[in-house]
Amino acid sequence: MSKRDYYEVLGVNKNTSKDELKKAYRKLAMKYHPDRNPDDQAASEKFKELSEAYEILSDDQKRQAYDQFGHDGVNPSFSNAQGAAEGFSDIFGDIFSDIFGGSSRTRSRSQRGADLSYSVEVSLEDAVKGTSINLDIPSSERCSGTWHRCNHCNGTGVIRMQQGFFSMQQTCPHCRGEGEIHDPNCSICGGAGFIKKNKTLSVKIPEGVDTGDRIRLSGEGDSGKHGNGDLYIQVDVQRHKIFERDGKHLYCEVPINYADAVLGGDIEVPTLDGKVKIKIPEGTQSHKLFRLNGKGIKPLRGGSKGDILVRVLVEIPVKLNKEQAALLRKFKESLSSSENTPMKNTWLKSAKEFLKGF
Ligand SMILES: [Zn+2]
Ligand SMILES: [Zn+2]
Repeated sequence: MSKRDYYEVLGVNKNTSKDELKKAYRKLAMKYHPDRNPDDQAASEKFKELSEAYEILSDDQKRQAYDQFGHDGVNPSFSNAQGAAEGFSDIFGDIFSDIFGGSSRTRSRSQRGADLSYSVEVSLEDAVKGTSINLDIPSSERCSGTWHRCNHCNGTGVIRMQQGFFSMQQTCPHCRGEGEIHDPNCSICGGAGFIKKNKTLSVKIPEGVDTGDRIRLSGEGDSGKHGNGDLYIQVDVQRHKIFERDGKHLYCEVPINYADAVLGGDIEVPTLDGKVKIKIPEGTQSHKLFRLNGKGIKPLRGGSKGDILVRVLVEIPVKLNKEQAALLRKFKESLSSSENTPMKNTWLKSAKEFLKGF
């Protein structure tokens, strides 16, 4: 893919001053910044493109080279697959503190309470039909006692280090990003800064959830200076005695009687709503798969309902008594090789062909 002109990317003309360039860039970067467009691939691409254009044009030498030779004249550090977005906020930290009003990801995250994660096991039946469960969640609440401004970070929660062109920042280790230090002799919490509390939550498990799905309960995490974190419920669907799940389909194996397989007949198979009868045609071989359309699972993210797939296993009778064995022998003698055993006949033909070579 050929690259777009850097001036075009920033929406400016060739004579744009450095200040105007910065302004144009800032406006667009704000619009496409990954923080504002989570999980948006197109925005992320735009943001990379912008970052690259600005990196080149904001540097006098590189800009001159670009003006003279175009893209061949410059070698942007952002041109490779390396996510520009990450490296970006470090390098242009000064711009970003402007854009986001001095707040940074580290700080806003750490001053909010921690996100909590909790895993729950649900039965397959509950996962398919949806249910509601009560959870006792251990959580912590920010202490209402006295807090002092942290002197190490001046209450910002972050410590910034300038190394030439690069501006690095880290969460303040003294206040752990809170920007405040709690009274170590607090009579309410004993100086910990938080109080442990258990809370009971009623959680709705939606119809169709599967192992690995996460349910987010906004604001139900730990509480912090600037609001609560979120609570994530990680769903784990238990193994089922009969069904194996494959996405929206359910799979099971059902042993059937030898005579039913030979003569055909009705057999009962399980579904999540109880038993249903299915017709087995005459001459059904073992491991044949039958499909019950629409008896499976309604997917959580929409779409048509899945099926139940039933694999029949023909059971060979065991421990025959004398009379049964005699009947079976008689039955065997009555079999015509050309009519009754086509599978065996085909196989014998192939085997004969194969053995000719020896
Ligand atoms: Zn601090
Ligand atoms: Zn306290």
